[in-house]
Amino acid sequence: MKRTEKTQLVIIGAGAAGLMAAAHAGEFGLSTLLLERKHRAGSKLLMCGNGRCNLTSDLSVNDMLSAFGSEVSPFLTPAISAFSATDLQQWFKQNRLPVMRTNDGKIFPASERASDVVHCFTDKLRDTAIPMCLNAPVERIERIDGGFEIHASNFSVTAEKILITTGGISYPKTGSVGDGQRFALALGHHVTPYRPGLVGVAWQDEWLTSNLAERFEGCKVRIFDGDKFIAETRGLVECERWGLGGGAILNATRILSRNNARNPAIEILIKNGTHPIRIDDLRTRPLKEAMVTVGGVVMDEVNPATMESTITPGVYYAGEVLDIDGPTGGFNLTAAFATARLAIKTIATDAGLKQKKSVSSSQEKRDKWKKKHKGSSDRAQSTRSKNKPHKKLSYTEEKRQHWSKRKK
Ligand SMILES: Cc1cc2nc3c(=O)[nH]c(=O)nc-3n(C[C@H](O)[C@H](O)[C@H](O)COP(=O)(O)OP(=O)(O)OC[C@H]3O[C@@H](n4cnc5c(N)ncnc54)[C@H](O)[C@@H]3O)c2cc1C
Repeated sequence: MKRTEKTQLVIIGAGAAGLMAAAHAGEFGLSTLLLERKHRAGSKLLMCGNGRCNLTSDLSVNDMLSAFGSEVSPFLTPAISAFSATDLQQWFKQNRLPVMRTNDGKIFPASERASDVVHCFTDKLRDTAIPMCLNAPVERIERIDGGFEIHASNFSVTAEKILITTGGISYPKTGSVGDGQRFALALGHHVTPYRPGLVGVAWQDEWLTSNLAERFEGCKVRIFDGDKFIAETRGLVECERWGLGGGAILNATRILSRNNARNPAIEILIKNGTHPIRIDDLRTRPLKEAMVTVGGVVMDEVNPATMESTITPGVYYAGEVLDIDGPTGGFNLTAAFATARLAIKTIATDAGLKQKKSVSSSQEKRDKWKKKHKGSSDRAQSTRSKNKPHKKLSYTEEKRQHWSKRKK
């Protein structure tokens, strides 16, 4: 049986961007429905950072933006300025997900479990009563009077506005299969061709065979299009059975894709190595293995200050469905979260809504309880402080005191 319901906003895709968007919609009290094609939310989030989830990098807004590169950073400026790495950490802490910083400035959940990030979002949706429908792949979007009709496989729903957060096209098993880009094309957008970003280099060589499973820190990777030097990355190079991986290599393949290099080549300088290793006619591992998709809904057709389509008003985009990508180190999640929040802020403000306090209802209950029992807990505190702290005595000291008491 087909049913049609009406809501202010439908978010399509419960990945990093969709979950953050739905959580933020809850903070505004915006009537929202979140639809997800898979049987669970955040399948790709669960894989992030090898299951540890690198949420962001502890950088200033300017440093964060310059790390994205000159092609992407102008588009991301309003979103990241409004939700910086500091705001991001603060938001997770407020929502009961403590975070920790590694020596190189990467931010992870303190538990180092990506599943805690997903739980943080789903708890937030529960607390703010935002419904999420799983196993609900959206198949088609239709423009109707005053909004849109969204057709999922088994039901339809009408909404005043839509936010498309269906991700890129890598790791298709996580549910990101390019549906959002297909919807965008049908709504009149252009989609830039897909290329693999943050992916390994397929390569075989004697040097690789003799260094199999080795990890080289502090390497320099020089990136070329033929003889033309493009850029340089630094960091880890890992020798794998199929070729080369590690942060410096992954970042290099993203830069090559972004520059549409016709004759991609790299030169690797291993720290303390004798001479550079040059790889011409570079081939990468397939796009389905890339950590990020380069390509997607073109940035020029989306207003960076609102995330609204300039082609189809009322349709918004956030996250990897757009032609945005960043280096490794939490940049792609930062972009997904920040663009999602900007879209919601625009939609909610247009609807005349104000953001409620960003604390969960259970946190509110705890705060109320603490306030109510403040007197008693203060009393308990003062009684505790009056009692002398228990001093740990050495065995001989304990024995001495015991016998002196007995003598008395
Ligand atoms: C192995 C791996 C590790 C990574 N590690 C990190 C990391 O540590 N830090 C970092 O910053 N980035 C990392 N990334 C990149 C990061 O995961 C992505 O950039 C980010 O998840 C993109 O978020 P998104 O919400 O745009 O898309 P996704 O997270 O891909 O979410 C899209 C969602 O939309 C759903 N969907 C798709 N089509 C439909 C439809 N028709 N109807 C309903 N739902 C639909 C999908 O099922 C999916 O749940 C990693 C990526 C990979 C693959």
